[in-house]
Formats: sequence, C-alpha cells, structure tokens
Amino acid sequence: MKAMMTSDSPIPPIVIQKYGGSSVASLEKIEAIAQRVVARQAMGYGVVVVVSAMGDATDQLLQIAFQITPNPSARELDMLLSTGERATMALLSIAIQKYGAQSISFTGSQSGIITNDSHACARIIAVRPYRIQDELERGKIVIVAGFQGTSYRNEITTLGRGGSDMTAIALAGALNAEACEIYSDVDGVYSADPKVVLDAVKLDELSADAMLTMAQHGAKVLHDEAVAYALRHGIALYAKKSHQPDSTGTLIRPDGWPEHALKASKNRPTAVVTAKYILYLSARDVDITTCLARLTGIDGLKIIDCVCGHRQLELIADIWNCRDFSGIRAALLENSAPGSFCRDDVLNVTLTGIDIGRDPNGLHHALTCLKNDGITPVAIFCQPNAISFVVNSSDCSKASGILHELTR
Ligand code: ADP
Ligand code: ASP
Ligand code: MG
Repeated sequence: MKAMMTSDSPIPPIVIQKYGGSSVASLEKIEAIAQRVVARQAMGYGVVVVVSAMGDATDQLLQIAFQITPNPSARELDMLLSTGERATMALLSIAIQKYGAQSISFTGSQSGIITNDSHACARIIAVRPYRIQDELERGKIVIVAGFQGTSYRNEITTLGRGGSDMTAIALAGALNAEACEIYSDVDGVYSADPKVVLDAVKLDELSADAMLTMAQHGAKVLHDEAVAYALRHGIALYAKKSHQPDSTGTLIRPDGWPEHALKASKNRPTAVVTAKYILYLSARDVDITTCLARLTGIDGLKIIDCVCGHRQLELIADIWNCRDFSGIRAALLENSAPGSFCRDDVLNVTLTGIDIGRDPNGLHHALTCLKNDGITPVAIFCQPNAISFVVNSSDCSKASGILHELTR
C-alpha cells in the first residue's frame, strides 16, 4: 500500500524502524536491511532507521576496556560503546547508497537526542530532530545510531543496555511517526521467551501495560523504558522479525490492561517471562539506611522489588547496566549479620497477569507446582500483576516451563 502525502507537508508519513544487534550482525544482513528500507521508501514513506551495534560488539568493547583496568571511567566507556552503533549506521548508509537511494547517517548527538549526564544509563530529556527533519524533506533515508545521546554539557552518553529501542520510540514521538517498528530475531512477543519455553505462543497484540510488566521482569524483546515511553506518549509499537519481511509481529497498543483481559484473566496468568541479570540480596541485622545508601553508589543498579523490615532487607535488582560489578557484594554485605547473603547465580522467573500477585490461590498453586517438580524458590516477590520466583540459574528453563503450563 502506498502512503498518502498531504499537499501542505513536504515530508511523507514517517516510519521508524529499529534493528537490533543480531539483525545487523553481518554485512549480508546489513545489505538485506538496506534493500528493504529502500523498498519502504519507494512505497511513499519517510524512513528513519535506528541501529544497534553489530552482533555482540558492545560486549566485546566492554571486555577490551576491562582488560586495561577493572574500573574504567563511565565517561570513557560511553565514548567507547557509542562507537559500536556508529559503525553500523555508517555501514547501513553506505549499503543503502549502493542500492540507489539517498541516505545520511547521524549519531545520537546529531539527531538531537538530549539526555541528562548519568553515564551508562542516561535518560532522554529532550529530542530536537531538526537535522533529521531537514534530510527527510530532501528525500533522504536517515540512519540513526541508537543507544546514545548528548548531555547539556555536550558529553556523549549512553542509554543503558538495550537502549536503542529507547532511541527509536523517542524519535517516533518527536517526529510524530505513523509507526514504530522494532525488529529483532523473534517474530513478536511470546507468552514466554521462545528460546527457553519451546511451546510458547506468539501474541498478536497486547496492551503496553502488560508489555511493560513483562519487559520490567526480563522480556527483553522490548526495552522496559521504551515501552513506558510509548505508553506515556500514546505511540503504538510493533515487534517484528528482521529477516522475515512478511511477519505480522505483535502490536503493542498504547493503552492499559484491557477490561476484557481483566475479566478473562482472573486467576489465570497471561504470560511467563524470564529475567537474567538479577542480584538477590538478603541482609539481616543491618542498618537499613546505610545499606540503601550503599545501593545508591552502584551505577546502573535498578531495584526490581524490595522489602524492608526492622533491620532486615530483601531485594532483587536488575544489574544489566552495572559495568563494574566487582566489590558490589562486599559493599552490600559489609557489617551485616551472619546469615546475610548476596547472590548473582540466580534468575528471576516471573508469572504476569492481572491481579495475579494479589491472589493467594494463584501463588499457592504456582508454588505447589514448582515444588512438586523439585524446585524450591530461593525467594518470592509479589506485585499486583506479577509473581517473581527467584530460582537457581540451573532451574530457570524448568521453572519457566512449569509456570508457563499454568497459563494454558
Ligand atoms: P535485539 O538485540 O534485536 O534488540 P533482543 O535480544 O534485545 O533483540 O530481544 C530479542 C530476544 O528477546 C529474543 O531473542 C528472545 O530470546 C528474548 N525474549 C525474552 N522474552 C521474550 C518474549 N516474551 N517474547 C519474545 N522474545 C523474548
Ligand atoms: N548495543 C547496545 C547493547 O548491546 C544497545 C542496544 O543493542 O540496544 O546493549
Ligand atoms: Mg533489545
């Protein structure tokens, strides 16, 4: 279908496409994307493409820096990591030009992505995509390096691991795009990670609220902050598979848990997700204020769930953005009583669904099923729409399968 262009606007309807690391892992893949992007423009769209670093380039760059020193500065790491996306943007632009279209690549800074100055997990505070708009008006395809911006002090920042989704959604909002398509190696959002639970089913659509709960608990197919942004700004998102052009994918509607789901899912969870990268802390006989103050000193750590009692603290935290992990355990456990511990060899397996965490029956049933299969969770955390079981890493796929069965 050809897009409609209004007579008073020089820019056709805009589509934002974002391609993640696995989608641009080789030159063949980059060239295949270039051809598809050119075809999309020919259909009458203004196309902005946001790209991630090729394959596991970000991890490789991190490893190199840590070979030099165990504590590289956050600023220099941002300078280093932002180059991963910059390499992809230039290569894709070169490939697009080879296929006969005009294109230009921009860094986050050139794209007008303004952030605060929290290196490693900066927040976008403004988007001024003037150069992108100018180039779209000239008929060019614009390629943007994801995952990065610039602070008011003109420092290069990065948006946290998986942050290219955030670049795409922020540009979709600022450019008033007709669609924001996030391409990865799966053809949409599934009822569980399809690489872990082999009989997981693809969801044709779901609400941004439900997706947000899943993403916050580890469904990394979409970045949690990007979904939150889409919800706040009323932007529809599509999760699709990159090298399968006809994939219908999953539509994430920018609305809350729907009424019908509320009725249908009473006592019935709608999805299971798995989350890696957690740290579980159980501290006894500690000064809670001091312990929490130590947490604030750990760059990139995000609390997923936390219970504070009298001189007792239990929490699970997302440590995906913690670059310097050495010393965290020691710092957190300093001066705590025997019996306190801090583990990063565990995973968080979460069952999500409306009111699932408020229902003692649901919790009792899920726990019984896990125990019947020999899995005793290290800890359990309940939120209104999620129950998280902290299990040994080796039990992750088994626990995911057991909990996923409950959704069927
Ligand atoms: P990209 O690098 O393109 O951003 P990601 O690796 O961040 O892609 O996200 C895609 C991955 O998300 C899939 O390979 C899949 O293993 C994982 N994933 C986790 N939970 C889900 C889910 N519920 N549905 C689909 N994919 C999921
Ligand atoms: N390249 C970055 C990462 O690996 C950002 C992204 O892929 O979205 O986390
Ligand atoms: Mg991702």
